[in-house]
Amino acid sequence: EMDLERPPETRVITVSNQKGGVGKTTSTVNLAAALADHGFNVLVIDIDPQGNASTGLGIPHSAETDSIYDVLINDLSFADVVADCPDVDRLSVVPATIHLAGAEIELVSLVAREQRLHRALEEYFQHREQNGLERLDYVFIDCPPSLGLLTVNAFVAAKEVLIPIQCEYYALEGLSQLLNNISMIQKHLNPVLKVSTILLTMYDARTNLAAQVVEEVKEHFPTEVLETKIPRSVRIAEAPSYQQSVISYDRSSTGALAYLEAAAELVQRG
Ligand code: ADP
Ligand code: MG
Repeated sequence: EMDLERPPETRVITVSNQKGGVGKTTSTVNLAAALADHGFNVLVIDIDPQGNASTGLGIPHSAETDSIYDVLINDLSFADVVADCPDVDRLSVVPATIHLAGAEIELVSLVAREQRLHRALEEYFQHREQNGLERLDYVFIDCPPSLGLLTVNAFVAAKEVLIPIQCEYYALEGLSQLLNNISMIQKHLNPVLKVSTILLTMYDARTNLAAQVVEEVKEHFPTEVLETKIPRSVRIAEAPSYQQSVISYDRSSTGALAYLEAAAELVQRG
């Protein structure tokens, strides 16, 4: 058993990449479940209108569900909308609903439009303290594949960005745009934000291409890339249709073990 220490303060990590299908949601769900499994208190905030992270963790998110949309637009608090993950202790989720698709536009005319998520999250930390709830150790924010106001809110609310990179051709394409946006956020809205972690996903050890991509990414991000790579795994792809993390779905699978190990590495590098 590894000895994994609690972080001195809550680590708020935005999972972002403006490319779709690179493993943002899969990594959010499974890193969060793995950290809860390691004994940490974890919150997932779903800010993708698709609500895939909510689905993947078994959280209802039909149009009638109170959700992150109501927090951002209607001034509900996190405490009003947070739900416990049914099969993972210590893991809770703020779900997203389809209403969030309109939020990019609705946010534009609101006061403090870039800070709304940050303020609601800070308020929730205080709420937990005042109500004798344990401090959260990790908060993950699962972003949509775009760099609009929802993602800006996530960058302002976090201290760390985790970028999942799929081990395939053009892996780094478009990344400079993401990094430019992060620089802009650092300059104008959140000076402490940094890209802390790169996670290589859908790695296929049998191909030369995957190995080349790993080398290329490590050249660009010598200190940020996790040693643990997430393999391409049928179990990882199947788990969401059972509304479970791969840790709950098949704990001994290579995919589950990889996410447990990546989570431990994330803790140790903290
Ligand atoms: P994003 O959130 O970046 O759009 P997803 O996490 O939804 O990406 O992943 C895109 C698709 O790839 C999903 O169908 C998911 O189940 C699948 N997938 C993600 N990671 C893996 C993996 N390591 N092995 C196999 N399939 C994966
Ligand atoms: Mg996603």
